[in-house]
Amino acid sequence: MAMISAGRGEFFDELEIMPPETRKEYLNQRLRQTVRHAYRNAPATKEIFDKAGVSPADIQTVKDLEKLPITRKTDLIELQKANPPFGGFLTIPVEDVDRIFIPPGPTYEPHFTENIKWFAKSFYAAGFRKGDVVINSFTYHMSPAGMVLHESVRACGSVAIAMGTGNTEIQIQTMLHLKVTGFVGTPSFLMTIIKRAEEMGYNFRRDFALRLAWFTGEMLPPSLRKTLEEDYQISTSQAYAVTDTGGAIAYECPRKSGMHLMDEYIIEIVDPDTGKQLGPGEIGEIVVTPLHNKVWGLIRFGTGDLSSYITEPCPCGRTANRLVGIVGRAGDAVKVRGMFVIAKQAEQAVLSLNEVSQFQLVVSRKGQRDEITLKVEAKDKAVDRKKLADDLSKRFQSLCRVKLDGIEFVEKGTIPEQRQTIVDERTWE
Ligand SMILES: [Zn+2]
Repeated sequence: MAMISAGRGEFFDELEIMPPETRKEYLNQRLRQTVRHAYRNAPATKEIFDKAGVSPADIQTVKDLEKLPITRKTDLIELQKANPPFGGFLTIPVEDVDRIFIPPGPTYEPHFTENIKWFAKSFYAAGFRKGDVVINSFTYHMSPAGMVLHESVRACGSVAIAMGTGNTEIQIQTMLHLKVTGFVGTPSFLMTIIKRAEEMGYNFRRDFALRLAWFTGEMLPPSLRKTLEEDYQISTSQAYAVTDTGGAIAYECPRKSGMHLMDEYIIEIVDPDTGKQLGPGEIGEIVVTPLHNKVWGLIRFGTGDLSSYITEPCPCGRTANRLVGIVGRAGDAVKVRGMFVIAKQAEQAVLSLNEVSQFQLVVSRKGQRDEITLKVEAKDKAVDRKKLADDLSKRFQSLCRVKLDGIEFVEKGTIPEQRQTIVDERTWE
């Protein structure tokens, strides 16, 4: 499928190509408005500000958000329990709300129609246009995904089919009968559909018109992406979405190298312990403040997802910074010398070397310094340990950005099958 050219007409809105300085001013100005509106109309937000000794006038720039605490899903659940049904975050009378969703938690999430248009830019960037017929396989039930994505597909001019989850065979029939060109859902579900169609005797590439797939809610492994793009000629795109904040916050452009941040949110990457903002390339928690949602006064929502961002200009012409993808959950990470080491990343780094059969990381403290040691079981006793150790430390440092202090080879079977990836042996007295 042809790349979308980076001509001006290929952007969904003007925000996508704002010069960085203009964006900075734009976001700060929207933030000031959002904060004033939320403080004035959402009692819970007012209480959070007052407790922190912060007034709306103290929040002039994105950096000033550090003065405020982070509200996480667990807090939201508690606040909604204590002050039902919306926890004090609703900013308009409930009779003016358009619809209320019930994302898992459960929490109640009110929406207003104007909230959903911006979402379309991620579909637009993925190539959805007038003439496309699109299956939306996210649920239309309770969760915002179905309805919000449906409207966003429509905003690109495409026809959306209100399919919902499951019913693989009906999805296949619909794809055939309506000559469906676009799929919205999870990568694993699309693969299930393709495999089932093949079992039914179809040649997917020949018999189906599907050429676009838009994914969220699940990681898209590079190998699966390659299969979909090369074997099935389906152009894939992914977006990062968060419920409780109104939806997608970052999306891929045709370059498919990181997800551009949406200008409808302030997105911070912070140290989850201190709430302080981190710089480009540093891994931290994604914290979201919606700017588009006039009915919801949530400021600094902590997602628990870990990621980092890059500031390098993207050849697509979009000027927003890019999120590099979700690397883990805040609970799966251990901080070593101020840097997060994430279990999943460590797995990727160490197990990419074929000579390794099992490993474990041990974090300890010597004097005032954190130390991280890698315990390794080699598949073959006769392996060149010096060379393997060199490869491991290089690979680990490039992926996890922390230097290993030592590598210890242990006998096969020493590290149990069901082991913890990172063991933290530090004591803090
Ligand atoms: Zn781009």
